[in-house]
Amino acid sequence: MENSKEYRVLLYYKYVEIDDPVEYAADHLDFCKDLGLKGRILVAHEGINGTVSGTVEQTNKYIETMHNDPRFADMTFKVDPHEGHAFKKMHVRPREELVTLRLDDDINPNETTGKYYSPKEFYEAMQDENTVVLDARNDYEYDVGHFRGAIRPDIESFRELPEWVEKNKHLIEGKRILTYCTGGIRCEKFSGWLVKEGFEDVAQLHGGIVTYGKDPEVQGELWDGKCYVFDERISVPVNQKEHVVVGVDYFDGEPCERYVNCANPECNRQMLCSEKNEHKYMRGCSHECRVSPRNLYVQEHNLSAEEVEERLKRIEEENTKMEA
Ligand SMILES: [Zn+2]
Repeated sequence: MENSKEYRVLLYYKYVEIDDPVEYAADHLDFCKDLGLKGRILVAHEGINGTVSGTVEQTNKYIETMHNDPRFADMTFKVDPHEGHAFKKMHVRPREELVTLRLDDDINPNETTGKYYSPKEFYEAMQDENTVVLDARNDYEYDVGHFRGAIRPDIESFRELPEWVEKNKHLIEGKRILTYCTGGIRCEKFSGWLVKEGFEDVAQLHGGIVTYGKDPEVQGELWDGKCYVFDERISVPVNQKEHVVVGVDYFDGEPCERYVNCANPECNRQMLCSEKNEHKYMRGCSHECRVSPRNLYVQEHNLSAEEVEERLKRIEEENTKMEA
């Protein structure tokens, strides 16, 4: 029992010049493996971005070593206790960018970025009439949790965001714009881009949602649902004062916060789905995915062809009933 919380998850980033990301990534992978960490780290000329899990001892050693490197001396680590590793493997990958935005004219957040708002400042600004809150994450992240009243850009990946803003300028023009993302790294660039585009009053949530949820003063207030994260935890709580479920089941629209991936590996669509509906629909997002010869649900449950047929018939019957 006393060992159940001895693991931790670290989330961190730093925009700082790294001369040879390929070489750095290779060395860093060895270092992380030696420590016994698992996780995903991206390295680019513009800096580093990582999520890793390990024991308290391993993660402390990692933080200490990183802080001894002048480039990362002031890097902030967000630390979450966890019951074990949050990843299966350790990857360190060199990349062109830390977050894929692919701007023609790239932003260096150390030169151009929105104002940094502390959780308290963000909390207060959100309640100001002349403010709009713009989620800088993807639609599937928004759907399981977001700031109350925030604008949901209709995007599946970060690099679609600038185009979305250009088409939806009317929603944010003339207002104070607040942006937020999971840990803050996307907003560093995105808010910088907004500033460059001529938006005058742009601020970002410093440290992201994760920091906001831990802040002793605001305690995650005005956040509804959970926060999507990119590791095995899938989502984490934010609002310590109240929990409002905003996610809805992909199949029946009932309140739901349980993520599954479509059982057809060629589709792999991420959807919110109750356990009941997972069984009912054989974890397939569509008829095609349910009858796919590679359907993982059918394999996991050893369903015979007759049993699959039986379930498909039941789905059809219920759908006809609903239409009637
Ligand atoms: Zn599917």
